[in-house]
Amino acid sequence: MSFKWMKNVREVTPYVPGEQPQQGRVIKLNTNENPYPPAPEVARLAKEMDTDKYRLYPDPEVTELCDVLADYYEVKPENVFVGVGSDDVLAMSFLTFFNSEKPVLFPNITYSFYEVWADLFKIPYIMQALDTDFRIKTEDYQVPNGGIVIANPNAPTSIAMPLCEIEKIVSANEESVVIIDEAYIDFGGESALSLVNKYDNLLVVRTFSKSRSMAGMRIGFAIGNEELIKALNAVKGSYNSYTMNMPSIILGSESVKDDAYFKETIGKIVATRERTIAAMKKMGFSILESSTNFIFATHEAVPAKKIFDELRNQNIYVRYFNKPLIDNYLRISIGTDEEMAAFLEKLASILK
Ligand code: PMP
Repeated sequence: MSFKWMKNVREVTPYVPGEQPQQGRVIKLNTNENPYPPAPEVARLAKEMDTDKYRLYPDPEVTELCDVLADYYEVKPENVFVGVGSDDVLAMSFLTFFNSEKPVLFPNITYSFYEVWADLFKIPYIMQALDTDFRIKTEDYQVPNGGIVIANPNAPTSIAMPLCEIEKIVSANEESVVIIDEAYIDFGGESALSLVNKYDNLLVVRTFSKSRSMAGMRIGFAIGNEELIKALNAVKGSYNSYTMNMPSIILGSESVKDDAYFKETIGKIVATRERTIAAMKKMGFSILESSTNFIFATHEAVPAKKIFDELRNQNIYVRYFNKPLIDNYLRISIGTDEEMAAFLEKLASILK
């Protein structure tokens, strides 16, 4: 059907998230969620929440959460910006910092939302090819550009880039903002947070969705030079003043306080990851070196799509990307030991 107003509609190709099956018993290893619950105090506070407060708008400056994060990461509250998941923080950053005629640079295999935001905001971009081992080539980001965004560790490859390479990129681009998306950094790799006081063009973006087990609360944040944060807040305040809802602010702040639990769950996930990798290698898989809570694997004989379909038929969800260069790979999020044992058992029967 065609309506007369259609010529004025913005045409977009949206990002396609992994499936979120709403019912039935499934083993969900397709969206890199954390298999463990958030910190125990979060559950207690959620039960005791004073719902009368919901009459009021939340704090537009999200002071409580910015303060907690500033304290934890040893920066000033003025260095912290908070948003509705790191997707919101990244989208806001694209809108704020990528306004040049020159192209924004990011890898050809990376978080596919970067391309979607660039298209949505009409930002010119170039996707730089990874090398044949799926690694980012530092020299590709030392050419004229209007901004840079790099996921470190990268997704879906799971590979981390050494901090000295990131620093080369940041220091070579003082006229552009370099965004390092550290959604998975707590599972491996070296954070660029140690560089934010040294470089005023570096913005590090993080999320509560993976290592902090709070994907459902939608909390992300950025840390960077005070002027970068001011610019982000100005754009946010021109779009929607109240992005962060009250429960997310309260429960997110609480979760940061329990560092022992945070480190314990990360440790469990990393141990399960290494056991899963060892078991899959014995089955004939090649697996990229993972610094994340997922692995990226290809089998020597059986096509990835076939494994994906058969696992799905048995209610085990992993992620398959029907895209050039990676269409024979599976991205598998790390679940609990029990979930991974069930996954490995089904995998063995499929490969037989
Ligand atoms: N960056 C990367 C690299 C991701 O994989 C994801 C998760 N899909 C995000 C950002 C966004 O995560 P969230 O919006 O849940 O914080």
